[in-house]
Amino acid sequence: MNVLVFNSGSSSLKYRLVDSTNGKDLCKGRLERLGEEHSHARHQWLSGTGVRREQGEDYDSLDHSAALQHIYQHLETLAEQENLPSPEAIGHRVVHGGDRFRRAVAIDQNVITEIEQLAPLAPLHNPPALAVINQCREHFPQLPQAAVFDTAFHQRMPAHARRYAVPDHWYRDHRVQRYGFHGISHGYAARAAAQQLGRPLEQLKLITLHLGNGASAAAIKNGHSVDTSMGMTPLEGLVMGTRSGDVDIAAALHVAREEGLDLGQLEQELRQCSGLLGLCGSNDVRDISSRSDQGDAAAKLALAIYAYRIRKYIGAYIAVLGGLDALVFTAGVGENSAAVRAMACTDMQNLGISIDKARNRCPGLDGSKAIHTPGAPVTILIVRANEELEIARQTMALLNAR
Ligand code: AMP
Repeated sequence: MNVLVFNSGSSSLKYRLVDSTNGKDLCKGRLERLGEEHSHARHQWLSGTGVRREQGEDYDSLDHSAALQHIYQHLETLAEQENLPSPEAIGHRVVHGGDRFRRAVAIDQNVITEIEQLAPLAPLHNPPALAVINQCREHFPQLPQAAVFDTAFHQRMPAHARRYAVPDHWYRDHRVQRYGFHGISHGYAARAAAQQLGRPLEQLKLITLHLGNGASAAAIKNGHSVDTSMGMTPLEGLVMGTRSGDVDIAAALHVAREEGLDLGQLEQELRQCSGLLGLCGSNDVRDISSRSDQGDAAAKLALAIYAYRIRKYIGAYIAVLGGLDALVFTAGVGENSAAVRAMACTDMQNLGISIDKARNRCPGLDGSKAIHTPGAPVTILIVRANEELEIARQTMALLNAR
């Protein structure tokens, strides 16, 4: 089934047409800097003769609606000129499904209303996704559409992992609890790991580490997330590109009082000016690693803090799971940074975690993405993140089950 997948961010819109039966991308692209002075579009596709093509263009400011029109036009041109097949279904990534959505759902008016009601929990992400959903329903009225939620994979976390120790009315009146995010990626990585291990997911204890610009860890037992590092919002947990991760809220309040910051400014400091950027002035692990190699003390410390937080979560989640079969690295940093993987696994032999230096430096050379020392009790794997394929598969599974 050819599934057209949309992933809308606050200022970007990514799309991909995926053959969900074989996982092949037929075309994909991203439109960025939406709502800014200049927007940029980049498209890649397979020509009718099987050659990979790409094209990039700059535009005056596009909003999400104009970006979507641009994508429709591009798909129609490719259909005419390159025989690109038509989509048979549409899958949308929706960041927040609250505790209402535990799995992907077919979109109807009730689902749209419920996603609207969840907007206060994800004000930057749910509204643009809804705008894209509504427009797609008008443009492709004949196509079934599914919403696939970033939070859904974590919605079976037990109450003791979900709830914060705060006044009970915070939970009752304001839905304050831990929802977790990156669920599409954690779910995909867990299934890919089970496949590589050749064992049923339902029998495995896994820790998946999604380390991109945003970063989170998940403890997965028998195919379900039992704990994850992001909480009510994506701010909690690991150190990220620009987000602080775990921090003493009283420290933030202290700075707000001292500097006279209002709540919006405080939130901005924690979301956009913290993490690796706050520690050393850059949020790109490539730059930070090369600065660290050249002896830059701030970069070295930033990497050390970043890796130490990951190690703490690995240790905690081994306790939560009561053991570990595999540790899985995914997303930009997880897939590409041998230095971060090595630092995150330092001194963990007594927990069964032992990374093989040569395989970690050049993963895949022996045809496997396993990077643990041969014979070590815990398998360590690298899985290439593919949220769009996971959305396409969940969309197809949902429609096939109807
Ligand atoms: P993502 O959010 O998954 O696209 O990951 C983006 C982040 O991955 C970037 O900000 C970089 O910090 C990191 N990254 C990408 N490529 C590399 C690389 N070769 N080495 C280290 N980090 C990388």
